[in-house]
Amino acid sequence: MVKELTILGSTGSIGRQALDVADMHGIRITALTSNSRIDILENQVRQFSPEAVAVADEKKAKELKIKIADTGVKVLSGSGGVTECASMKTQCVLNSIVGIAGLGGTVAALEAGNGLALANKESLVAGGSHVTRIAREKGISILPVDSEHSAVFQSLAGCKDKKQIKKLILTASGGPFFGKTKKELENVTLEQALSHPNWAMGAKITVDSATMMNKGLEIIEAAWLFGIKSDKIDVVVHRQSVLHSAVQFVDNSVIGQLGVADMRIPIQYALTYPDRAESPVRELDLTEYMTLTFEKPDYDAFPCISYCKQAFERGGLAPAFINGANEKANELFRSGKIKFTDIPKAVENALTVCPVKNDCSLSDVYEADSLARQTTEKLFGL
Ligand code: NAD
Ligand code: MG
Repeated sequence: MVKELTILGSTGSIGRQALDVADMHGIRITALTSNSRIDILENQVRQFSPEAVAVADEKKAKELKIKIADTGVKVLSGSGGVTECASMKTQCVLNSIVGIAGLGGTVAALEAGNGLALANKESLVAGGSHVTRIAREKGISILPVDSEHSAVFQSLAGCKDKKQIKKLILTASGGPFFGKTKKELENVTLEQALSHPNWAMGAKITVDSATMMNKGLEIIEAAWLFGIKSDKIDVVVHRQSVLHSAVQFVDNSVIGQLGVADMRIPIQYALTYPDRAESPVRELDLTEYMTLTFEKPDYDAFPCISYCKQAFERGGLAPAFINGANEKANELFRSGKIKFTDIPKAVENALTVCPVKNDCSLSDVYEADSLARQTTEKLFGL
């Protein structure tokens, strides 16, 4: 188990659960970061006494500095402050920032030679070739925190040759709108989109789960993490979220990981790997479930899954571009400026207009992201 940990995005849903796990096991905290929410961050500083904290919002950073002046904890600010925290020497950096904003922290943690437990899937979606190259060069294995990827990772324990993998089976809860037709999705509200049946998560990923863009992003995430082609990654809708994902091997044996829907299991596994330890999560009692169901996704009502697959197959900047378009559209939907069904339209549009460029640098990735956001605003006349 890691003895020291930095958490990027510690005020968020994953960040707070990670601190729960750290608290239970007495893991020392090197640094914590957030975008704003300094009330929560202040409490975390007082409870965990990190060496440094960073607040991306400069004004909020100044406020925090005054609030915690008595603690002597170093307060950094801006996105530079966040990456500085990621670079501080520690055993593991858990990146639970939401969106492309997490890419800088992922790169900084790896370049500094720190271990990386990754919840921020957007880092891999947008910057997969860079992130995996740096990890390879530094000899660091990225440990997945996303529940599906943790399940695949756990199912692969003991598999010495990737050739023995036939396919990955990613499970999806289907979100709050499973079973609805394209037409019925036209009039769904933000409130409905935010009420996920099985998981309590941040707003952006909850909306991504409702459009099933989340599952598309996870296909790309899995392809990079496990070095598997996207046509060997299947999606199965499993409403109960008990089987968190599985691997089918060449002998058609399927190995999966089951548990209650609680992110503290995959978070903790990334910190204890290759060992296991007691966790704050309750036992799974299979008899509580009368049935476990498995269905094909409705690709017509939820086309984002296919758009993501196509973007990954196209390669280059396409995944960064559709990720940027989705982030913007997701944000516009949450602020009431566009309809739910406009989100897949934005992603489809991004796939159509995406610039073709293969050998791209990290700054090209950021440029593609900002161009995709502008393109999305234009699409809706904003
Ligand atoms: P959240 O919105 O609850 O928290 C996001 C965190 O990122 C907050 O601490 C926030 O302050 C910080 N942040 C936001 N914008 C930032 C910026 N510009 N610069 C620096 N920090 C910034 O999100 P979450 O649900 O915890 O999700 C975090 C990541 O984990 C996402 O990539 C998500 O896809 C992934 N993930 C989440 C869950 C879950 O159960 N919540 C499950 C699997 C994967
Ligand atoms: Mg997931």
